[in-house]
Amino acid sequence: MKRYLLVALPVAILSCISIYLLAMPDKLPMPNKIEKPADDLRERLTPEQYYVTQQKGTEAAFTGEYWNHHEAGMYRCVVCGVELFASESKFDSGCGWPSFYEAANDKVVDTNTDTSHGMVRDEIVCDNCGAHLGHVFPDGPKPTGLRYCVNSASLTFEPKKD
Ligand code: FE
Repeated sequence: MKRYLLVALPVAILSCISIYLLAMPDKLPMPNKIEKPADDLRERLTPEQYYVTQQKGTEAAFTGEYWNHHEAGMYRCVVCGVELFASESKFDSGCGWPSFYEAANDKVVDTNTDTSHGMVRDEIVCDNCGAHLGHVFPDGPKPTGLRYCVNSASLTFEPKKD
């Protein structure tokens, strides 16, 4: 009986550890998806950044930090920090919000149909964290013909290093 236990017990323990380790990946947070509790975001973001990114708000035209900003560099998501728009794709649309003709790459911005305010528009969100960014319209310049109309409150800016 004792000899049986000497074999069975370690086998049972090893089995438990194996099953636990195999099940682990599902329990770990997704490494690329940054999900912060809402309370933490309320502390970390300004009220306007929270309103725009988390409650699909819109800052008033010609009031944001970047609508008239022309430095070379990268605009990142204010919530998760992912690179969203390069300054090279920024153009003066005259609409009062930072406008870009393309995203930093084709994976960072996702679109959803938005039927609020009696209009049908394409909402743009950060594909990484879901932050609301603004809307995309088919009236932009070449080469894409698109205008990504983005709230300054959804962005941070990182100047290009020399
Ligand atoms: Fe993000």
